[in-house]
Amino acid sequence: MRYLVTGGAGFIGSYLCEALLDAGHSVIALDNLSTGRIENIEPACLARPGFTFIEGTVRDEELTGRLVDDADVIFHLASAVGVSLVVNRPAHTIEETAFASEVVLNAALERNRPVFIASSSEVYGKGVSLPMAEDDDLLLGPPDKGRWAYACSKLLDEFLALAYYREYDLPVVVGRFFNTVGARQAGRWGMVLPNFVQQAMRGDPIVVYGDGEQTRCFVHVSDVVGAVIKLMNRPESYGKVYNIGSTDELTMNQLAERVRSVCGSSSPIEHLPYDEAYTEGFEDLRRRVPDISRVRDEIGFEPTLTIDEIIRELRIYYSKGGGNQ
Ligand code: UDP
Repeated sequence: MRYLVTGGAGFIGSYLCEALLDAGHSVIALDNLSTGRIENIEPACLARPGFTFIEGTVRDEELTGRLVDDADVIFHLASAVGVSLVVNRPAHTIEETAFASEVVLNAALERNRPVFIASSSEVYGKGVSLPMAEDDDLLLGPPDKGRWAYACSKLLDEFLALAYYREYDLPVVVGRFFNTVGARQAGRWGMVLPNFVQQAMRGDPIVVYGDGEQTRCFVHVSDVVGAVIKLMNRPESYGKVYNIGSTDELTMNQLAERVRSVCGSSSPIEHLPYDEAYTEGFEDLRRRVPDISRVRDEIGFEPTLTIDEIIRELRIYYSKGGGNQ
């Protein structure tokens, strides 16, 4: 099969490209290298037969159309990413997420190609109930808070994808990723685990935002990529939304402790108010836990790597100079 992976030089995209190549497929990765990096696909993909890298933006309709022409299936992962970037650049976020997905979905529709849409647990917003299930109501904050521009853009992607499925029979699958982590995730975009591990390795304070009692569930990128490929390989997934994540819930204080212990670091753990970490009036989520029964029941999904194993992997990755420390 020939696959187009948008955001193919990104953190998750690069693992997806690698897994597709491993399975003997050919892959075209399209990435504008805004947050993606050549380092992610070099050496994992670049020198391998069947792999083509195109530097460009999915918002270039002519280019995206041509690449969709050449592909049997599209994985659309290109997007703005990272809470700090999203908070500081809401216009860019909407353009690079909602507007970009419209181009990809239209190109797929014109050529009737199956599309996977990478969405995010951010669409649950502040969360109405726990664990968060695909059919739950969604509770987003107001438009003057930058964070929600991302949630709203991802939600629009989902609405458009499902609308194309219902009205035009376009085969689409939506995956809502929950706090996906692993090597190649850069700390520069504000994600917690790369920050903590790099701080611990340098012996700097591990900086926990807020009181640190907010929770997240972390899943390894290889588990996510495996689920994405399985879901796309079965027509029963078409027209549906799937949570993909782990259900092992940790507070950020506990995460900081795990990082310190696994890295053998004596870094102190400090707390920074949200207003200083992001912008004034920043709204964080107190708890985020996915209900993964749908993906578990349908494709037997189970996360395989523990948080300690993931921290160990990140430590090795950064100690080899990965991730633009
Ligand atoms: N966080 C933190 N220190 C950091 C970066 C993030 O304590 O250096 C917190 C952040 O406020 C949030 C949690 O860790 O409560 C997860 O943040 P991340 O940006 O990784 O993911 P998301 O907020 O999208 O779940």
